[in-house]
Amino acid sequence: MTSLFNHFVRSLTGVLVLLLIVSAAHADAPFSFETAPGKLPKTVVPIHYAIDLQPNLSALTAKGLAIIDIEVREPTDRLVLNARDLTFTGTTIDDITSAKSTSVDKDEQTVTFTFARAITAGRHQLRIAYTAPINKESGRGLYSMDYRIDNSRKRMLASHSEPTDARRIFPGWDEPAFKATFALTLTVPQRFLAVSNTPIAQEEPLRGNRKRVTFERAPRMSTYLFVLAAGELERLTSEVDGITVGVVTTRGISATGRYALDQSVALLKYLNDYFGVKYPLPKLDLIALPRDSASAMEHWGAITIFAGSLLYDPAKSPADMQRQIFLLLAHEIAHQWFGNLVTMAWWNDLWLNEGFATWMEHKSVERLQPDLQSWLSANGDKQLAMERDIRSNARAMRRPIADEDEAGGNFGTTTYSKGQALVRMIESFVGEDVFRDAMQRYMKERAYSNATVDDLIRALDAAAGKSVGSVLLAYTEQPGIPLVVADARCVDNEQRIALRQDRFTARESQAQPQHWPVPILFGPPQGAGTIMLLDGTAEISAGRCGDAIKLNLGDVGYYRVRYDTAMLNALAHGMPGMTPADRINLLNDARAMVETLREAPAAYFVLADQLAGEDHRRVVEHLVDTITHVHKLERGRSGRAAFQAYARALLRPIFERVGWQGADSEPADRARVRGQLLNVLGDLGDDAVIAEAKRRFDAFLQDPASLPSALREPVLHLVGREADRATYETLHGLGRKSKIMAERVLYYSALASALDPALARETLAIALTDEISNEMARRLIFSVASQGEHADLAVEFVKRHFETLADKFGSTFRETSMSTLMANFSDPARAEELKQFAPAYETSDGKTEAERTRERILADAEFVARQLPALDEWVGQHKVTP
Ligand SMILES: [Zn+2]
Repeated sequence: MTSLFNHFVRSLTGVLVLLLIVSAAHADAPFSFETAPGKLPKTVVPIHYAIDLQPNLSALTAKGLAIIDIEVREPTDRLVLNARDLTFTGTTIDDITSAKSTSVDKDEQTVTFTFARAITAGRHQLRIAYTAPINKESGRGLYSMDYRIDNSRKRMLASHSEPTDARRIFPGWDEPAFKATFALTLTVPQRFLAVSNTPIAQEEPLRGNRKRVTFERAPRMSTYLFVLAAGELERLTSEVDGITVGVVTTRGISATGRYALDQSVALLKYLNDYFGVKYPLPKLDLIALPRDSASAMEHWGAITIFAGSLLYDPAKSPADMQRQIFLLLAHEIAHQWFGNLVTMAWWNDLWLNEGFATWMEHKSVERLQPDLQSWLSANGDKQLAMERDIRSNARAMRRPIADEDEAGGNFGTTTYSKGQALVRMIESFVGEDVFRDAMQRYMKERAYSNATVDDLIRALDAAAGKSVGSVLLAYTEQPGIPLVVADARCVDNEQRIALRQDRFTARESQAQPQHWPVPILFGPPQGAGTIMLLDGTAEISAGRCGDAIKLNLGDVGYYRVRYDTAMLNALAHGMPGMTPADRINLLNDARAMVETLREAPAAYFVLADQLAGEDHRRVVEHLVDTITHVHKLERGRSGRAAFQAYARALLRPIFERVGWQGADSEPADRARVRGQLLNVLGDLGDDAVIAEAKRRFDAFLQDPASLPSALREPVLHLVGREADRATYETLHGLGRKSKIMAERVLYYSALASALDPALARETLAIALTDEISNEMARRLIFSVASQGEHADLAVEFVKRHFETLADKFGSTFRETSMSTLMANFSDPARAEELKQFAPAYETSDGKTEAERTRERILADAEFVARQLPALDEWVGQHKVTP
């Protein structure tokens, strides 16, 4: 036990507490429009927007007319609306009075129209003529996208408004609480298909091969959900529950939308049923924008998704693609309720949108495609969120959002991954059926309106008949992670487990002590478990002395557990019978205890020792990741060779069962496990693996078909790592010659793995040439540092050529490259060096990343100094049991 535990030790109450209910005392209130946070005055309210747009795709501007029905609540001579980059050409109210003056405030992103006389209270109609820019390829407001079909160039129009870019398309009240109805009219070339939130009501031909497209009225919604897209597009459709579902693509490829279409139909059916409120629009389109990277936006009735993450071609797409498409669809379709039908009142409650959509993404996958084991991947994301949540710059999920910049900065790991983990924990606390009742109540009560966390709490409390608010607020309003400490004792052969809680922090930081009511599901690893709320301390009675009792069964909670040695040993022996989720959870908690110096390394490795029979992909992934990390920290130390031998002995039995060659019918996961094991065993110096990789590479040079595609990555990596000059030249020649992107990536990644420093220098120099794409060149530098173990050379190289590289790779490289490279070190001097590297601190994102990395380096340094000697000693005394 470190001194961290002495700060805040509470005495055990010694009573059995199974359910402790705490009343929610906090400042938040249910949604009320008048008091919702925001910047615009609430004295003028939009009711309906009629928007007419006439885009010119050559000139990249759009002529706009916004006719907005408003309700004036207090007489005023001034109207303040959001607007950005718009040019105003005439504004009248009630068709008679023109605005006396128009003044634009760039910083506030507003326009103020002043009238000669006060506008009376009541309904009025505001008519604003303007032009809006079409931002080339920007993904903000209205924007154009260029693409090719065969040899002809095409240009289409699209829009994106979240969080605060609807104001670049039309002047309006661009805050989520100002909901209104919308009607869009769009003038486009005759050959275009135009898509918006609602179906087309009418198309009217115009002169010059143009047409005016009028869309049906959209229901009350927030401005950030407004969307339009138009181009030479085509649409594949299907029907479900009276709703038309469509996939819209560029011409000629709509057949590749079939998988997404079928899955969307299944998802919509499931979600209609789950929420008890039917999807309210007559249609739902998925618009495949012609780009390869991953991006999606849940606009109501017309989700936009980059084609590379939506379209599926059985002949060309990778096997894992279907899973990714399904997850993405589940997320965006869940938003049609969480976010679109019921919207957070303000950006501080963004987690109500994103945390819930992410949770529902995994829940619906679990229901509709259980073999994907979606929660295991969600729990992987939860670990990332926890990793950030222990740092000193961790931020609460709900925090004040003052302006547009902060609203944009809120879309991060915490909002999504901690958000979904919290929702799942609450669901398990109240029970699946009760939780669903609460969701149905919440949707009915708040439909077409907004909500705060308080509305959610009321719906949950009403359905559950107990207070859930204290849990929700503790987790949303403070950063950090609870640590639950479990100590067992034996009384008349009955096991009594004392529980207490603390804050789980990275190091002995200045983090404030905090308190959470923690829902805990506990019991024997094979049982359904008992749920309790730990609020302070408790003692539970759990079977006979020595029985294995696990906390956080199913890994459904957001907390860490520290077991006493006897409990941990009992659990270690029970590991083979646990679910993969429980095995991973136990390993993650143990690893976290060791990393934060709470436990000696043995606390993790006694568990790892039990994994000789392991074959679950996620568990092996966890083990490989841990070993790779420790192996990195052992770099340059005398204990490294012994650790390598120990780790090889740990992984060998797992690899032996997987083997080099799989049956044709083996699951895709097994091939992934094989690749990972080969990489790490080779890195750990397994002579047999390295020799076989070299042999297979030689055979591949004679006959490329002899090396199955799934083995290419590990074989090339290991051959590259051990390469002499001749092999390096061979790999380089193959990379230069290859025309297939995925193949080129493998060859250059193999070059970056070379351990020979002279070769590493040559690889770095490639990043300055035009030999490979910028994206590959950027990754090449990072790979030399990580895979090639030459972070020192990579740092030196980047510093020497910094301006050239930053010009070439752009602002993200400027801000974060040094942090990425420095993360390979565990030397405090490097943390200091990063602090002195000015470009990493030029932007707030860069600074956040740099500070996080510095803290990580210092934690690793402490780990090396305080834990590795103990690990080396343990390895020295330890023989892996076969
Ligand atoms: Zn989302």
